[in-house]
Amino acid sequence: MGQRFGIAMLVVLSAVTAAAQTAATAAPSRPLRLVIHGGAGTITRASMTAEREKEYRVALELALRTGFSVLSKGGSSIDAVEATIRVMEDSPLFNAGKGAVFTHDGRNEMDASIMDGRTKRAGAVAAVSIIRNPISAARAVMEKSQHVMMIGRGAELFATKQGLEIVDPSYFWTEHRWKALQLELKREDEAKDPSKKPATPGQDQDKKHGTVGAVALDRSGDLAAGTSTGGMTNKQFGRVGDSPIIGAGNFAENESCAVSGTGHGEYFIRWTVAYDIAALVKYRGLSVKDAANEVVMKKLKAGGGTGGVIALDAKGNFATPFNTEGMYRGWIGDDGVPHVAIYAGE
Ligand code: ASP
Repeated sequence: MGQRFGIAMLVVLSAVTAAAQTAATAAPSRPLRLVIHGGAGTITRASMTAEREKEYRVALELALRTGFSVLSKGGSSIDAVEATIRVMEDSPLFNAGKGAVFTHDGRNEMDASIMDGRTKRAGAVAAVSIIRNPISAARAVMEKSQHVMMIGRGAELFATKQGLEIVDPSYFWTEHRWKALQLELKREDEAKDPSKKPATPGQDQDKKHGTVGAVALDRSGDLAAGTSTGGMTNKQFGRVGDSPIIGAGNFAENESCAVSGTGHGEYFIRWTVAYDIAALVKYRGLSVKDAANEVVMKKLKAGGGTGGVIALDAKGNFATPFNTEGMYRGWIGDDGVPHVAIYAGE
């Protein structure tokens, strides 16, 4: 009995040792990666104060660190994407959650989506106004419903039943977004008289739009992508952009790549930006960098669509192209050091 027990222990121990060795040797070939964006637009050094720039950099770093702590503890890419985006949704700096822009009639209507690259399951919500973290509602749709997308009141009722945090619509009111709407309305009014050039200057695109997104690669080699937005300032009530549309503002598939976009949503929808990048990787064998550049810097730009994407493949290769002056963005890898950038050429 004692001898048999001893042999059994030896077998177990050597199996454990072998597994540990495999894990140790496998670890470097399975990089951890998290890439984020916080919106693209007319973001130039001249239009930014040092203080504001610092605020953005700190917020981007916090989002990266939050998501990375999930990944480094062995968490899934889906968990990391949700945790990262929640941080950005809670910040008034980004056009998502707390910092969402206003519709023409002075409301905040948010869209979000999330996709799991391993299973190709996806969830999305659109035109929601009382869910504090729309990205979590998108995840609940993916995991707790039979559907991919839910909108408006139905999505809100579903989120409430799932126990997600519900807030009064006034939670989303911020002064800078309100002022941005007033300027847009004034300009729109002035533009009604064709004999006069509008006196009010056009809004910088980053004030008009700007969205948050994250793509992640976990220790199991699984990709995930998420996108969350308030849409575009002065949008019509009921307008839905690309962010909650799988294949347009968001896509993830282990075999190709994970993509999250930001920019003029109507173009991202018609150019099926996120899926087009994945298709170029999958069917034409392009690198994620070449595929993302081809779509954002050539196809989308030639069509008049402004914006950018973050794209990541299952080996950890990534790209962050944008055809605007700037894009809030960042990435973090195995060493846990966050890298953030705002302007072109950084
Ligand atoms: N793509 C978003 C939308 O059109 C806005 C943005 O990314 O700036 O709703």
